[in-house]
Amino acid sequence: MRLFDLFYPTLCLHCGDLSEALFCKSCQTLIELLEPKDRCVTCFGEKEDGTLTCKSCRFEREEVVMMGALFEYLGPMMSLTRSLKFKKMGYLAKNVAPFFVVQLEKIGWEWPDLVTYVPRNWFKNLLRGYNQSYLLARAFCQLTRLPLLPLLKQKGESFSQIKLSKKERRKLPVSQFQLKKGGSLFGKNILIIDDVITTGATGRACAAVLRGGDPKEIRVMALCRAGSKDS
Ligand SMILES: [Zn+2]
Ligand SMILES: [Zn+2]
Repeated sequence: MRLFDLFYPTLCLHCGDLSEALFCKSCQTLIELLEPKDRCVTCFGEKEDGTLTCKSCRFEREEVVMMGALFEYLGPMMSLTRSLKFKKMGYLAKNVAPFFVVQLEKIGWEWPDLVTYVPRNWFKNLLRGYNQSYLLARAFCQLTRLPLLPLLKQKGESFSQIKLSKKERRKLPVSQFQLKKGGSLFGKNILIIDDVITTGATGRACAAVLRGGDPKEIRVMALCRAGSKDS
């Protein structure tokens, strides 16, 4: 143990035990990258063996966007995501950035031309002081040297969204987001970074807006995937 640790011992982000790293040794064993071939090719949710997509995506009539995630929204990675989001521990984005690179390679998507992130409304940004999806995207771009562009913004405000059930949120109108004025997206391969995919509605809404710029491909990669599509 380093001398400094005697005064400021590091605590495991998940269980709170003394630890020399972000997570103690036993919590580290609980962390596993999601395996792309076990997941729905569209929403990255759970699917049955021998199929390509989950049941919901098979009957999906909405915008189809390929989504991926690094970890299940459970255990240590849920603690990390919550610390990143609510405890002003934005620096954690740097710790997870390399896993975005590993998962992108593993999933086999074409390397993006540019990266953007899911915008948050001004009120949440004001409360937290930052947007965790932006921090993740920034850390990923610092590592990969890919260009990071703020392509999207929240249209008006959506306080009412808090009161909506999860099922209702899936039906949110596309108009929740709008395209920022700026560079051309024509023919570009865009990667949207988010913190947690739950229903996938947010990713779809962002992608639908970006399509207005006529890009070649839009994909969403999130730090975590919440268990089931309707959770
Ligand atoms: Zn622990
Ligand atoms: Zn699916």
